[in-house]
Amino acid sequence: MAYEVTATRRRPKTFDELAGQEFVRSTLKSSLEKGSIAHAYLFSGPRGCGKTSAARILARSLNCEKGPSAEPCGLCSACREIRNGSSLDVIEIDGASNTGVNDVRQIKDEVLFPPNAGKYKVYIIDEVHMLSNNAFNALLKTIEEPPPYIIFIFATTELHKVPATIKSRCQQFAFRAIPIEDIQRMLRETCAEMNIQAEDEALFWIAREATGSMRDAYTLFDQVVSFSGGTLRSSLIKEKMGLVGIEELNALAEACARAGHAEALTLLDRILEAGVSIDRFVIDLAGYYRSLLLLKAGVVKESVLGYGADRFSAAVRDALKLSQLEEALSMLLDLYRDLRYSLSPRFELETAVSKLCWLDRWISRAELRDAVDSARTVLGLPPASAGDFSRGASPGGSGAPSLKAEKPGSEAEAAGFGGPGSFMDKPGAFTEGFKKFMEKQSELKPGEETIPDEAEMVRRVFRGTVVKQEGPRPALPEGGAENSVFGGIP
Ligand SMILES: [Zn+2]
Repeated sequence: MAYEVTATRRRPKTFDELAGQEFVRSTLKSSLEKGSIAHAYLFSGPRGCGKTSAARILARSLNCEKGPSAEPCGLCSACREIRNGSSLDVIEIDGASNTGVNDVRQIKDEVLFPPNAGKYKVYIIDEVHMLSNNAFNALLKTIEEPPPYIIFIFATTELHKVPATIKSRCQQFAFRAIPIEDIQRMLRETCAEMNIQAEDEALFWIAREATGSMRDAYTLFDQVVSFSGGTLRSSLIKEKMGLVGIEELNALAEACARAGHAEALTLLDRILEAGVSIDRFVIDLAGYYRSLLLLKAGVVKESVLGYGADRFSAAVRDALKLSQLEEALSMLLDLYRDLRYSLSPRFELETAVSKLCWLDRWISRAELRDAVDSARTVLGLPPASAGDFSRGASPGGSGAPSLKAEKPGSEAEAAGFGGPGSFMDKPGAFTEGFKKFMEKQSELKPGEETIPDEAEMVRRVFRGTVVKQEGPRPALPEGGAENSVFGGIP
């Protein structure tokens, strides 16, 4: 027998074999059992999730000699002919290549003839959204009042392109992307069937790469089997497909967390040398930080994380805060967006990795605001209101020293409070404003608390939140805040 690709061989033949579409399955089955059959169905959903298979199963359910039945026998001539694609009563049309009004006219003429052998004449029109407007209009009347033996099953990956006039005449079923667990289960069954050993991680990777499409999963599976022989190993997949493993990602992220620029960049070079493409690596690295973010937020489900929680480096998890992981992820996503316009994607990636080495010193605006509030508390001032962080808001304290400008353009602006750019865009600006602020402090009356010096002030404010007291970096180098807290921000 000729070689048959897995996707074809494993095409579902009954509703029960339709993976991951419980709602569609149960609704179609129960309506068939009740004998309530619509003139037109519209199946929508991402590619490879079983729309065409479901349409064929429905056609068999309708035309099976023992039908209409939710469980077509699979043995009668109608069932067999439909499965082989040789039934005269089930007409499959590819909407993408039959888009014109003439193609639809032909359908309109044909529907006048009753089915050849079965009870119904079923038209399955794939990618129906590709039909032209005229074609849709020509089809409308036929869908609305078809001869009783005609059933239309439309399938589309782009529901929004199907005119409302067509949608409203169809029973609609939304297919969803197949969950990773379901794909993995189907792959496991396939392995058992083909007598192939497979590591769970290898199957998981295939399932994840398939992004909800069973067909993609089987295609990738065939490819992996072709170079793996009887045993699917994740290490071999990584090597052959140019992938980055969790070990490499852990090593790189650990180097970054240690601020080991040289180590991180050398590792990156080694990974790219091994044949991993830059796009691929950015996706994998972003996925890695995403998983860490989810972990930090308390998500431990393996199918969401991509790996078991214990596979992620504890050192990296401990070193970074939730907000820093958010920053890393959004930086990598920006990078992925920008790659295609870049003169040198590799330079972009190296810059990003270098920035990741600063990550443990990054603070969010919310944290910065909390720190300023703490500073105000130390100074006996009320917490800054939200307005203090935007230009022009100045409710005005009664003579008390304030971080807000008394006249526009002084401390507040220098401190970077003005405008959307804020502190992050002007390293050093905060220190500048702070110096002026400290000058004001000298005007305080005796007995009121003053801060001995700037470094002490910053130390108090950021203690425990930003400045790490231990570790390779000095807690506060000479030169003040811009070198420690605000400098080096990616
Ligand atoms: Zn049958």
